[in-house]
Amino acid sequence: MPETGYLEPMRRIWDAADIRALARLTGLIVDTSPAALLGVEEDHSHLVCGRPEGIVRPTTARQVQGLVRYAYEQNLTLTPRGLGHSGSGQSIPLDSLSVDLSHMNIVGQVDMQTKTVTCQAGTTWRQLIACLPVHLVPFAMPTYLDLTVAGTLSTGGMGTAVSRFGPAAAHVAALDVVDGTGELHHCSARVHANSRLFYAALSGLGRCGIITGVTLRLRETTPRTTVFRLVADTVEEWHQRLRDIAALTDWQHLDALCSLQSASDGTSVWRYEIEVATDIGLECSDALQRILKKATLEMISTPDFPTRFDTRFAALETQHIDTLAHPVFECFLPRHVSEVLLPQLLSLVPPEYMIRLLPVERHGSPPFLAFPKGEIDLLAILTLGIEPDRLPDCLRRITRIDDLCITAGAKRYPAGWIPDTTLDYWKTHYGDRWADWRDAKQRHDPRAVFTSRLFPSRSEEGIS
Ligand SMILES: Cc1cc2nc3c(=O)[nH]c(=O)nc-3n(C[C@H](O)[C@H](O)[C@H](O)COP(=O)(O)OP(=O)(O)OC[C@H]3O[C@@H](n4cnc5c(N)ncnc54)[C@H](O)[C@@H]3O)c2cc1C
Repeated sequence: MPETGYLEPMRRIWDAADIRALARLTGLIVDTSPAALLGVEEDHSHLVCGRPEGIVRPTTARQVQGLVRYAYEQNLTLTPRGLGHSGSGQSIPLDSLSVDLSHMNIVGQVDMQTKTVTCQAGTTWRQLIACLPVHLVPFAMPTYLDLTVAGTLSTGGMGTAVSRFGPAAAHVAALDVVDGTGELHHCSARVHANSRLFYAALSGLGRCGIITGVTLRLRETTPRTTVFRLVADTVEEWHQRLRDIAALTDWQHLDALCSLQSASDGTSVWRYEIEVATDIGLECSDALQRILKKATLEMISTPDFPTRFDTRFAALETQHIDTLAHPVFECFLPRHVSEVLLPQLLSLVPPEYMIRLLPVERHGSPPFLAFPKGEIDLLAILTLGIEPDRLPDCLRRITRIDDLCITAGAKRYPAGWIPDTTLDYWKTHYGDRWADWRDAKQRHDPRAVFTSRLFPSRSEEGIS
């Protein structure tokens, strides 16, 4: 590593000479075509806009190393991007080069002994699970399978296994990470020398390095998954059932969604759904049977189970919906608060949204995934898109919900749309980990090569 101190960078803009030098040194072509730039100047939210200087599409860790080393030496900046599904500029360049990692998508052999699989950073979860033997699955996956593995781990990775196994980032055996000087590190929690970078990369929002490879732990399943579906009559019953199920252990997946449905009299009413599933052939305990006595039951082949949300997400593929704004809100709420706050939140949620509420197993989560203290729930307020005439009202309501939750002690899951992100906001967000968050940047990215629309400069990171 060339030096450990934090240098005051004389930041430059990528120019034609840099683009030629980069091609000569790494073989990487910088795409500056207007269509390509348009594709990365926004993310999935369509609410924030950046200024990309070009796009590079590496396919190997060596190319990423060459790219970062060049940027480091020349005081240039880079913004890592998976597929741009985040919603607040996390992957949007602001006067920097977009590093599109989605072309790094090779999945390696499964190690049957250690029950792990290694893949390149830009592999999607769909590509990954297609390569796994039928009896092995990742401990935790997002509900949307077309996210990249490294992009998901850079935020945390929430899915329906979060109540049993925690976030996807809690199940990473090792990472290959190119730090801000261009050095490639194979790092894990076990190798002490590299554990700091390992933990800086998990839920690290691409600030400290580019992940080029990921080794994930897998768990065994049976070929069939048993799925129970239950509908609660009231929000109180929904909340109580969720608590009762979370207290038991004979399931691996738990999901709880509520959305507005049209009633026969033309009004809209909330429908409260719960889904519980076991994919390891567990017999239902008496306690679970009692809770699920009115549930419907379905057997699904275990490899098909993760794809059950595909029909819902299919709408995103349509051109109209893809161009709509997606102000999505996710946070971790102290559990004692969620029950009290829920009725008020329901009265504020716009009709275009659905709500997911899940107890979170926090054990093993990386330090930069900021949680409130004690028992917590994930609250996600999700939409497939907001028509332009509805946007002001929706933003007003989501901002109000954000205020209410943060005031009640919540921490945002920093994947969706975050209305206000001043330096003080991040200090409060990271709380007693704030100094570690700032120091990790100085240590692993001493010239601030990695920037984004969300973290455009050192001052936004609290580094003077
Ligand atoms: C329809 C939809 C469904 C979603 N479902 C879920 C879900 O079920 N669970 C969940 O947890 N989240 C979900 N998200 C939210 C979230 O956007 C993703 O978790 C995350 O952003 C991954 O998306 P991506 O792969 O496109 O990464 P991006 O959005 O492109 O990147 C996310 C962050 O990671 C950084 N990054 C990307 N690749 C790398 C890399 N190789 N090395 C270092 N940093 C990198 C980026 O700079 C950025 O800060 C969803 C989003 C959408 C739009």
